[in-house]
Amino acid sequence: ISNKVNANMPFRSPLPDVEIPNVDLLTWLFGSPEAPLPTEPIYLDSINPNEKQLSMQTYRSWVKRVARGIQTKLRLKPQDKLLVFSGNNIYFPVLLMGVVGAECVFTGANPTFTARELAYQIKDSQAKVCLVAPESALTALEAAKTVGMNTRNIFIFDDDVSNSRKEEWRRLQLGGHWTEICSASDDFTWRKLTTPDELHTTVAINYSSGTTGLPKGVEISHRNFIANCAQALSMTDRESLGYKVVNLAAIPMYHAYGMAYFVLQSPKMGDPVYIMPKFDFVEYLKCVEKYRVTTVSAVPPIVVAFAKHPAVNKTDLSSVRAIGCGAAPLSADTAIAAEAKFKDVRILQGYGLSEVTCAVILQKQNALLDPNPKRGTVGHIAPNCEAQVVDENGNELGKNQPGELWVRGPNVMKGYYNKPEATAQTITKDGWLKTGDVAYVDDAGLWYIVDRKKELIKASGYQVAPAELEAVLLEHPDIADAGVIGIKWAENERPRAYLVRNPGSKVTTEDVLRYMSKAVASYKQITGGVVWVDAIPKNPSGKILRKVLRERAAKEVKDT
Ligand code: AMP
Repeated sequence: ISNKVNANMPFRSPLPDVEIPNVDLLTWLFGSPEAPLPTEPIYLDSINPNEKQLSMQTYRSWVKRVARGIQTKLRLKPQDKLLVFSGNNIYFPVLLMGVVGAECVFTGANPTFTARELAYQIKDSQAKVCLVAPESALTALEAAKTVGMNTRNIFIFDDDVSNSRKEEWRRLQLGGHWTEICSASDDFTWRKLTTPDELHTTVAINYSSGTTGLPKGVEISHRNFIANCAQALSMTDRESLGYKVVNLAAIPMYHAYGMAYFVLQSPKMGDPVYIMPKFDFVEYLKCVEKYRVTTVSAVPPIVVAFAKHPAVNKTDLSSVRAIGCGAAPLSADTAIAAEAKFKDVRILQGYGLSEVTCAVILQKQNALLDPNPKRGTVGHIAPNCEAQVVDENGNELGKNQPGELWVRGPNVMKGYYNKPEATAQTITKDGWLKTGDVAYVDDAGLWYIVDRKKELIKASGYQVAPAELEAVLLEHPDIADAGVIGIKWAENERPRAYLVRNPGSKVTTEDVLRYMSKAVASYKQITGGVVWVDAIPKNPSGKILRKVLRERAAKEVKDT
């Protein structure tokens, strides 16, 4: 498969192409199924690291047991989907790679989803089996009922591999514990893939609402993952770092960011990862100090916490050498305030989206700190990638001119699962992915993300699709119409709803908030305000004029 990109395009990556090995994901990560692997810990539980840990050797052994079990006990066929509904634990990567080893497809759901949100993803991905955290068993059972899934296809997933709560799972009429799926022996050899067709098979379906509408399944192939990891890794000058990387995983592994970084790149580099089962900033700080964490992988609200939280001043942060931040915009002021809490550390931003596997523009990491860094940039276009900036009419723009960012490269998704129309609207015939973000590139080839053209709201780094919230709101018997937008709130965004009451209805804001609290996950709540209006502004074909709502909100929020 060629890695070359068109040299004539305006904004080709200035970095030399990297080689993307033509191998499957398991071969890329583990080499072979048999050769000895390192035995020092690679995944460690942040609460109980001595007892709960995996090395590359034991990691691969579990992966083989899962893969063999999926084929022989569950009897799933290639490309069947398995859904994981759980927070992080040391076995999360085992499931992902085990599913891939079985030639099936992995899809991860946000662990805070309600039954309705989970049901949507089970149905949309056509998942055959769900692996769910113990605390989510009842939610999963409710979702299974909605979609008509046999509860025996639901398995409990946690790090209690002794399966001490067996009886409890049996009483709930679940399939059992995930370890019961695993084959007793790790005598398993995954199929080595080499041809372009094989390497383009889907291994994961990550959910994103893209530029418009409801969440859609982003199909990621072996090659997408390997390409994006090779691209990202090439932007860190590992040799010159001069320290042993120690990671702390708080961001979720079901999402593109956590998946690419902690499930793939960290073990590939042999960098240990302490895994936090639940995010709590004070706990996070304690772990940084206790485990001498060198590398912080953050989203903007975590950077804000570093800048402002009083506990930071009581924490020894001297081990931290690098901070990466992505998933949402980060202001220069916040970055500077957070950097002041560390010694000689610069926050490096990355920009990406689920549709490009994880990242596509990154700040390069090397040992030497630039004394006068450019602020606000997300860095350079990754190698093997090209970008263009396009105006409202689809015309290409030059440097320093903001417009919609389009990107092309080997990390661009295959498409949206079962949604050819949405795929065609997002990826052009020439392979350009329309990001829906507004960006420009400066004379030095550095990129700046300045706005978002698409509907998407990013709350604490998580995706919130306005169309989804509108659909839920419209199901309320007293709501005649709804329009949802995002508003900026500190270094974050919050959903704000414009609502029309049904004639004669006296429904209140409190009623609506109560209703939403049961329907959708906490990060999707309408925390940016509810505004009752006579009508939602729409164009003649019935499309909500979000720009009008955004302008209105900007004025209202300023006025209050
Ligand atoms: P997701 O698919 O969940 O990773 O969300 C991708 C979206 O998050 C992008 O299309 C951007 O709108 C936003 N995003 C990601 N990284 C950045 C960044 N560094 N700066 C600004 N927005 C970002």
